[in-house]
Amino acid sequence: MKRGTIPAPVHAACRACGTATRVILDLGQSPIANALLIDPAMQPATHRLGLSQCDTCGLVQNLVQLATETLFGGDYPYYSGVSQMVRQHFNDLAGEIAKRSPPGAIALEIGSNDGTMQLALARHGIRCIGIDPAAGPVSLATKAGCKAYCGILDNQMAVRLTQENGLFDIVTLSNVLAHVSEPVALLKHIRDVLQTDGLLVIEVQSWLALVGSGSFDMVYHEHHSHFSLSSLAWALGQAGFGIQMVRNTATQGGSLRVFCRMDASHSPAVQDRIEAERDDISTAPARLHAHFEAFKVSVRAFGKAMRGKSVAGYGAAAKTVTLLASSMGDVTLTCVADRAPSKIGRYLPINGIPIVSPDAMLATRPDAIILFAWNLRDEILPTLRGHDVWVPLPQFARAS
Ligand SMILES: [Zn+2]
Repeated sequence: MKRGTIPAPVHAACRACGTATRVILDLGQSPIANALLIDPAMQPATHRLGLSQCDTCGLVQNLVQLATETLFGGDYPYYSGVSQMVRQHFNDLAGEIAKRSPPGAIALEIGSNDGTMQLALARHGIRCIGIDPAAGPVSLATKAGCKAYCGILDNQMAVRLTQENGLFDIVTLSNVLAHVSEPVALLKHIRDVLQTDGLLVIEVQSWLALVGSGSFDMVYHEHHSHFSLSSLAWALGQAGFGIQMVRNTATQGGSLRVFCRMDASHSPAVQDRIEAERDDISTAPARLHAHFEAFKVSVRAFGKAMRGKSVAGYGAAAKTVTLLASSMGDVTLTCVADRAPSKIGRYLPINGIPIVSPDAMLATRPDAIILFAWNLRDEILPTLRGHDVWVPLPQFARAS
């Protein structure tokens, strides 16, 4: 890969409704966060990173839209099953779906990754077929005994899926809708594979929760869109789905889980919530921008205090790259730890920072550790006792 700045066009039209959007956050240039390097000397291309908002349907979207194949190739290093918290989350979700499903129901999970959710549904008596564009995770799911298709849900795949499996009683998407370039088009394709009285369950990271925690590190090229309940309801309505129930979940720093039915209206409780979030939506861009500015000030002070000392990171996630590229130029990392075997031995696409096992990171005896995977702090912090650990968000601060 050659070094360079790709002049990708700013995606000015809204991906959900097609009207003009306005820029609300500019994080500068960043490489594709999940494209980890095999050779630290490689100089990956960078692309503009930031957000714009549509005033018509409320969707918040990435400034540039990179091709799906570029973002989610067979090398995609994220595997759901690696985190105990993620496994637990899917198990809870599967239980909730099972309560609302008829006996013998068959489900389709879009974005099925390594089959973690498929296995969770199977434990609750629901057979679940998976579909995912990333070959690596799909192969792992297949080895675990799951039936999974490698591809995306388009017209052709909808025909193939229903010919081979019949119509589905349940379709689930967890953290998928934000990653597709045309969310309404995907929702319309779901109509082609779902029974008319079927259940559609969607989880998306919440835009208002992101803003509330100042988590601008959730902005990376793979996240095409950020949904509030309002913009999610708008997109679902365009595809002929109504939200029957919504609940907040803790994943991804705060997410929305919605249960939808075809050819139905949004429930009165959902309508009330949409009305109630109106003010928060209008102030969100200014609040997030202020948080980003405050973060840069804290990091500069940290970088100054750590000059001459060794600092390591924990969590080689996409969000790590966003933080490093947008605002952590003053902090030099010796290495970053991660538990995922698919990442260890590779390098972050910024400054060629090596990714090592947690034990290998601790063996370097760093003076400070930045816990980039701050959303998993309850799981990881106990393993770092006795070390000077800092969390970047919600505030850049010492963890204990
Ligand atoms: Zn729009």
